[in-house]
Amino acid sequence: MPDEIRVTRSICCYCGTGCGVRVRSKGEQVISVEGDPDHPSNMGRLCSKGSALAETVRRDTSRVLRARVRDRVTGAYRELALSDAFDLAAETIVDTVREHGPDAMGFYLSGQLLTEDYAIFNKMARALIGTNNIDTNSRLCMSSAVAGYKMTLGADAPPASYEDIELADTVLIAGSNMAYAHPVLFQRLMRARQARPHMKIIVIDPRNTDTAQAADLHLAVTPGGDVALFHAMLNVMVWEGLLDQDYIAQSTDGFAALKERIREFTPAAAQDVCGIAADDIVTAARWFAQSPATLSLYTMGLNQSSSGTAKNMALIHLHLATGQLGRPGSGPFSLTGQPNAMGGREAGAMATLLPGHRDPASAVHRNEVAALWGVDCLPDAPGVPAIAMFDALLDKRIRVLWIAATNPAQSLPDQNRVRKALQQADFVIVQEAFADAETLAFADLILPAATWPEKSGTMTNSERRISRVRAAVPAPGEALSDWKIVQQVARRVAQKWAPHKAALFEYQAEADIFAEHARLTAGRDLDYSTLDYPLLEKTGPVQWPYRNEGTVRLYSEGRFPTGNGRAHFIDVGFNAPAETISAHFPLRLTTGRLRDHWHTMTRTGLSATLIRHVEEPAIYLHPSDMARYRLADQALTRVKSRRGQIVLPVQADDSLTPGCAFLPMHWGSRAMGGGGINVLTHGATDPYSFQPELKHCVIAVNAFRPQ
Ligand code: SF4
Repeated sequence: MPDEIRVTRSICCYCGTGCGVRVRSKGEQVISVEGDPDHPSNMGRLCSKGSALAETVRRDTSRVLRARVRDRVTGAYRELALSDAFDLAAETIVDTVREHGPDAMGFYLSGQLLTEDYAIFNKMARALIGTNNIDTNSRLCMSSAVAGYKMTLGADAPPASYEDIELADTVLIAGSNMAYAHPVLFQRLMRARQARPHMKIIVIDPRNTDTAQAADLHLAVTPGGDVALFHAMLNVMVWEGLLDQDYIAQSTDGFAALKERIREFTPAAAQDVCGIAADDIVTAARWFAQSPATLSLYTMGLNQSSSGTAKNMALIHLHLATGQLGRPGSGPFSLTGQPNAMGGREAGAMATLLPGHRDPASAVHRNEVAALWGVDCLPDAPGVPAIAMFDALLDKRIRVLWIAATNPAQSLPDQNRVRKALQQADFVIVQEAFADAETLAFADLILPAATWPEKSGTMTNSERRISRVRAAVPAPGEALSDWKIVQQVARRVAQKWAPHKAALFEYQAEADIFAEHARLTAGRDLDYSTLDYPLLEKTGPVQWPYRNEGTVRLYSEGRFPTGNGRAHFIDVGFNAPAETISAHFPLRLTTGRLRDHWHTMTRTGLSATLIRHVEEPAIYLHPSDMARYRLADQALTRVKSRRGQIVLPVQADDSLTPGCAFLPMHWGSRAMGGGGINVLTHGATDPYSFQPELKHCVIAVNAFRPQ
C-alpha cells in the first residue's frame, strides 16, 4: 500500500560502530530515521550523521540514475540501456582477458558494500576471471589492524566487545578522535566513566581533540612516534616489575627478544622521538599495567602509517605483557572505520585474503575455497593491493579497472598520480550511486548503483556483530543493488569466456549469497557457517564466531589460533615516517575527519544540517606557526608538499602542537581544484599491510597572492 507508513529495521551506513536504525517510509520516500532501541550496539542512540540520514536519501539528479558510456573520441557521455551496459562491460572484460590475461583486470571495491556484494565480486574475480587483483578502500582503513592481529594473535579478530567499555577501569585511546569518528561509542564511554568515577582515560593523539579533552592523561605524540611511545611504556613495565609473568610464560612466546629490543627505549630516550615527557610515559605505563582491566581503542592514527602494523603490534604487546586480554573490560580493540570493512575481510575480497580469513598464498586454502565454489582451482599469482593497483594501471599490468562504491579520484593519496593512472587506463568501469563522486569523470562506463536504504544484505561491525541491512524504499531510476549488477555482468562474461561457470552466479536473492558465504567460514576462526537469514531474523544481530550462540570475548582461555597456541611478541623496531621535515618542508601534516562529514562527502554533502557544522575546508595551524609564516586567520594560504599544492583558508587552532598542521580529509577538487587535499599526501605504504601513510607528510605554507 503506497500510502502506508512502513518501519524497516536496518543499520546506519556510516561508521563501523554499526548502529541499528528504524527507517520510517511511505511509498518511495523516507520520512525519518531513528535509532533502534533493540539493537545491542547502540540501544537507540544515533550521532549527528545517523540522525540526518533521511536528509541524504534522494531520487533526483544528485543520484546516478542510468547507465552512461563515454565516447572515446569526443569524451561526451551518452545514456545506454542497462542490458547494453552489461554487454559492453562483459565484452570489454573478456576481450582484455583474452588478449592480456586475467591479471589485466582489477577490481577496486569499498567498505560501504554489503557482505553479499563483496562475496559475488570476489567469486567473479577469482573463480570466473582468475585474478587476485581485487582490493578495497578498506586498505586505507583497517589493513594495519588486520596485519597486527594476525602477526601477534594469529587471526584477524578484534578480541573485545562494546560492553567491555562499561567494564574497563583504564581505557587507552590511540589515534582515534572517537568523539567525531565513532560518536555513539564515545558517548557510551562517557556514560561508563560517570558510572565508574575511578576509570582512567589516556588519549594518544597529536591534537587536543574533543576526545583528548575528555582524557585524564593526554599524550600529544609527535606524528609517527607511537612505536617509540609503546616500547617506552613496555620498558617501564619491565623495570618496575609490572608484567604478568604467568601470562607471558603460559600464553605467549618471543618476549625475550622484544625485551632486549625495548631496553634502549627508556622514557628519557623515547621522549625525544615521540614528544611525550618521560614522567607521562611512566604514568601511562603504570595506569595501563596496574588497572584491573585495561581496554585499548584505536583506529586510523595507528593504521594509516608506513609503520602501521608495527604500531598495532607494539600496542598489542602491552596487553600481552600485562595479561590485559580475554577478560571482561580488557583487550586491544580496533574500531573499524567503515560500516562493513569487517564483512569485506570475512568475504576475503582483498588481494591478501580469501573467504573465511584464508590466505591466497596457501595452496590448501585456495583448494578449500575452489572446492566450495565448485571450480577446479583459484589463481596463485599474488594480487595487487589498492595503492599498487593504480601503479599497475600506469605501467599497463592492469588495463581494465572496475570501481564500485568508492571515490579513489579524491580519497587516495598522491592524487596527481592516481588521476594520471585513471586517465591512462584502457577502460574504467565505475559503479556508483552519487552523481557528485569525482571518480565518475574518469569512467568509460558508468553503472547506476542502489545505495542505503535501497539495498538488503548483511554487515559486520567492529565488535564482530553481524546485522541484517534491509531495503526500506526502491532504488531510483535504473539503479540496481551492487550484487545484481555483478551477477548480470558475470553471467555474460561466463557465457563468452567459460560457459560452464555461468551456474556459479545463479542466485535468486541476497540470502542465497549469504548462505554460500557462511558455509565458507566453517572450521575457521570466525565460523558462522550455521547462520542464515531465517536464523538471523530469529536471533537478531549476533557476534561471530557463532556456534549455537554468539561470542562476546575471544581468547578467554589464554590460547590463540597461532599454530602453537601462543600469542607472539614480535621483535619490532621503530621506523620514522616516510618523509621527514626539512628547511623546504618544515611542517608535519596530519589528516582526519570532522564530526558531521563522511569520507568524500558524496552522501553527507546532501544534508543541509550536516554541512552547517563546517561549511568550507581550511588548513589548521597552531597560532605560533601562523605568526612564523605571517598568516592571518582565514587568509588564503598556499600549501605545498613534494607532490603538489592547494590553496585554501588557514584557521588558527591551538589544539595542535606547534609544527603540526591538520587538514580534514573530506574536500576534493571542487573545493580547491585539482584533486583536493590528497594532492599533498603520499603513497608510501606499510610493508605488511600495504596501508598508505595518510596521517603524515611534510608541507610548506605561505600566503597566497594571486598573480
Ligand atoms: Fe552511524 Fe556511526 Fe553515528 Fe552510529 S556512530 S549513527 S554507525 S555514524
